[in-house]
Amino acid sequence: MMQFPLTLPHIFNRAGRLFPNVELVSRRPDRSLHRTTYGEFHRRAQQFAHALRRLGVKPGARVATLAWNHSRHLEAYFGIPLAGAILHTMNPRLSAADLAYIMNHADDEVLLVDDVLLPVFEKFRREVKPRHVIVWGETPEGLIDYEKLIGPESTTFEPEAIDENQAAGLCYTSGTTGQPKGVLYSHRALVLHSIVSALPDSLGLSQGDVLMPVVPMFHVNAWGLPFTSTMVGAKQVFPGPHLDAASLLSLVASEKVTLTAGVPTIWMGILDALDKGTFDTSTLRAMIVGGSAAPQSMIEAFEKRHGLRILHAWGMTETSPIGTVSRLKPHLELLPEAERFRIRATQGLPVPLVEIRAVSETGEVPWDGKSMGELQLRGPWIAKSYFQNPEQSSDRFSADGWLRTGDVVTIDGEGYVRITDRSKDLIKSGGEWISSVDLENALMGHPAVKEASVVAVAHARWAERPVACVVLKDGATATDAELRAFLAPRFAKFWLPDAFVFLQAIPRTAAGKFLKSALREQLKDFKLPAGSSPGER
Ligand code: AMP
Repeated sequence: MMQFPLTLPHIFNRAGRLFPNVELVSRRPDRSLHRTTYGEFHRRAQQFAHALRRLGVKPGARVATLAWNHSRHLEAYFGIPLAGAILHTMNPRLSAADLAYIMNHADDEVLLVDDVLLPVFEKFRREVKPRHVIVWGETPEGLIDYEKLIGPESTTFEPEAIDENQAAGLCYTSGTTGQPKGVLYSHRALVLHSIVSALPDSLGLSQGDVLMPVVPMFHVNAWGLPFTSTMVGAKQVFPGPHLDAASLLSLVASEKVTLTAGVPTIWMGILDALDKGTFDTSTLRAMIVGGSAAPQSMIEAFEKRHGLRILHAWGMTETSPIGTVSRLKPHLELLPEAERFRIRATQGLPVPLVEIRAVSETGEVPWDGKSMGELQLRGPWIAKSYFQNPEQSSDRFSADGWLRTGDVVTIDGEGYVRITDRSKDLIKSGGEWISSVDLENALMGHPAVKEASVVAVAHARWAERPVACVVLKDGATATDAELRAFLAPRFAKFWLPDAFVFLQAIPRTAAGKFLKSALREQLKDFKLPAGSSPGER
């Protein structure tokens, strides 16, 4: 067979050549809709690749984006790798300190930023040194206007030969303790991930689909969906910064969306809106849910009350991200309804080319649906180390070539993975990570606090919310309000604990470490105070 490199330009050129009239629709910040096509996108992304070269961007250089979902962001998804450079998507919800750290660690030469996100950039601008800042939209003095930059360039760009193992993308994850860590995606990994994602038993995407990724393009490349959709030639609908249920449902109706994807928090809002109002969702074939566990009750409610199907998937930044997808094997379709829903709420089966195992202290555990172990994976789109971070890589990547996920699971005899716990000391709220360790360290700096341990409590809308368990020093006093006010200047608002529970002592392991599992068990039925969660405060 030929040696044919698996690279993004192939996917890109196919869309330009075969699907020039298929639409890409984006909602602008002012709520109006912008329409373009793969043909136009194909020309503009090539203009952008030329512009990057003119700015002096060399192959291998990092180009960052700070942007919502829209078709110009898609131009960056392909234009940057076309120029041999690396697309580095950044999450505007992170703290200014994290964003500065990430940009400096990645050594980004160029930043592309949405005009509406310039205030976020302003907060860390003085800490970073990109050579060029390009703006999508209203451009202030001194920064580069994207349209003026690409306008004069040629619409055909001949890329140099690209090695399939060359990096095309970079994302940082805060889903581990310590500083955020970068994961580099090769062309080959992204192409193989797109092919397998599109399979009918994976996410199932075809040229007939209209895909609306609600998951942001800065969360593991919107789960790779912009690449997969472009590969198959599906119409794409980008919601921009408007992620409320009514805006999303109006796009589903007007653009005839067939497939959409996002974290459970988004779908809880959609479910509520559907329960209360009337929306046309007749074209919607499935909603892909991942990032946090899709509750079985939510899967059932969508299906029974609205005839809408949820497809539950699991992944990580380190896994590009698709690792497992929960679809029933044909013989399991014959099971009673309750049993079918139970299986669909698991994290699912590994997709082709991904191998899994669950490992406990005593070794690999049997696939019996009962024995628990840490989920470990290997495959062609699973990272083997963190970007320029050998120290942090050693405890996540095992010596025998597996990624250690930090998720504690059982695997049943059919191969369905179920997450039962998380060994990483983090809380995931609305799809974003909160470090319990950082909150604990800050709390223990309060003069009245002797010990603090922060754990996740289940929440219907946000999936998890932090609750701080606090032991006060002898004779000292402190109230919830005082402790919250003490934390407020140091953390993003959504990080602040929903409640403070004052204890005499925090349970400990034999080794003297806080026993978080015991605390979580103690708080299993804890009722969060009304009005304490983000969006309510
Ligand atoms: P991130 O790298 O930020 O995408 O986070 C990956 C982590 O999110 C996983 O290791 C899990 O802890 C969690 N996660 C992702 N998908 C799911 C899911 N479907 N169910 C439960 N947890 C999930």
